[in-house]
Amino acid sequence: MTFNLQGRCTCHALVYRITLDSPDDARTTLCHCHSCRRAFGTNYGLTTKIPIAGFQYEKGQPKTYTQDNGVTREFCDVCGVFICEYGEQAKDKFRYVMWGTLDEPDGLPPKGEFFCRERAGWMPEIPDVFHKQEIKE
Ligand SMILES: [Zn+2]
Ligand SMILES: [Zn+2]
Repeated sequence: MTFNLQGRCTCHALVYRITLDSPDDARTTLCHCHSCRRAFGTNYGLTTKIPIAGFQYEKGQPKTYTQDNGVTREFCDVCGVFICEYGEQAKDKFRYVMWGTLDEPDGLPPKGEFFCRERAGWMPEIPDVFHKQEIKE
């Protein structure tokens, strides 16, 4: 029994599928770092970590951009929506999928928060998840 999820960008040019043995193989986290803030255009980034073998595009090819800190993001070159990201060390192992691009993300609630020291002052902690002051791997 596999766990399947689908997601896409706003314009439907990119459609992807996630296939996992179990939803426990996915891990959704918030990241309050300044890099995520700017990329997402909000006060935190929200991604779901997926083993790379479980992530594939069914339609379209993304554009990629690697920023100074080594984080690469894959995005739609038509509508501009970010689909996923990964650091240099995660490149061959994981995809951090932008949670909001999943068709049905509610089954993957956050398990933790990273870079809490950079949390926006008005943003409360999420209860009953782990809280780290800094790093995401
Ligand atoms: Zn698009
Ligand atoms: Zn971050």
